Amino acid sequence: MFTIGCHLSSSKGFLAMGKEAVKIGANTFQFFTRNPRGGAVKPLDLIDIEAYNRFSTSNGLCAVLAHAPYTMNPCAEKAGLREFALNVMRDDLSRLSHIPDSLYNFHPGCHVGQGVDIGIDLTAQMLNSALKPGQKTTVLIETMSGKGSEIGRSFEEIQSIIEKVEQNEHLGVCLDTCHVFSAGYDIVHNLDGVLDEFDKIIGLSRLKAIHLNDNMTPFGSRKDRHEKIGKGTIGLDAFGRIVNHPILKSLPFYLETPNEIEGYAEEIVLLKSLGL
Ligand code: FE
Ligand code: FE
Ligand code: ZN
Repeated sequence: MFTIGCHLSSSKGFLAMGKEAVKIGANTFQFFTRNPRGGAVKPLDLIDIEAYNRFSTSNGLCAVLAHAPYTMNPCAEKAGLREFALNVMRDDLSRLSHIPDSLYNFHPGCHVGQGVDIGIDLTAQMLNSALKPGQKTTVLIETMSGKGSEIGRSFEEIQSIIEKVEQNEHLGVCLDTCHVFSAGYDIVHNLDGVLDEFDKIIGLSRLKAIHLNDNMTPFGSRKDRHEKIGKGTIGLDAFGRIVNHPILKSLPFYLETPNEIEGYAEEIVLLKSLGL
């Protein structure tokens, strides 16, 4: 049985997200920790979280994935923006400590003209300040498409960040199918080769989650335009191979496709129908 879910709105709280996930046949979900285009955050509701924790245990939900806001740029040029990123990550991780089995995904950032090497250094510095010994949440660096000055478009860049982080036992990678295909990793024709490369450069033990998205743009476009599953340049056959791949099938899958809740429910049915 897959672990599969989709991105849900967190506006009604954790218990509401858990119930919505179960209703659409999911056994996990992703949500934004705060306003993705700002940073504003609601007060922590521990009663809701406790109710959610009981609900998730009795309904078999697992590996809930919290996504950091897009405004978080750990390798920004301005010190104030980097401080904002650090404070957001610290606060998000402290909130997530109340949810067992949680994962935290973030974009490694845009170097905005400082160059990739400085970007990698700054992002690693932030992680060194944000990660704490004994923390429970695993922090995932997302593979990026390479649009603009994004870092994290290659496995080498991601590994360079990981290597510079002392507490890197708390770090993993979330592979976004749309992003890697745009970045030039051919998961349609050479999935085994791409996973082999991931293993050689980063190590497959770091791979903790998959963002399942089709792609509106051609291979190697360096663009970040998600498409519904089976409607884009990756295509349904490739998703069948991805969800059934021996290395991938036990990982949690999260849909971030352009859908309302009904569309997500249909994609979950579709993806389960592809499963062995
Ligand atoms: Fe993302
Ligand atoms: Fe993603
Ligand atoms: Zn994306």
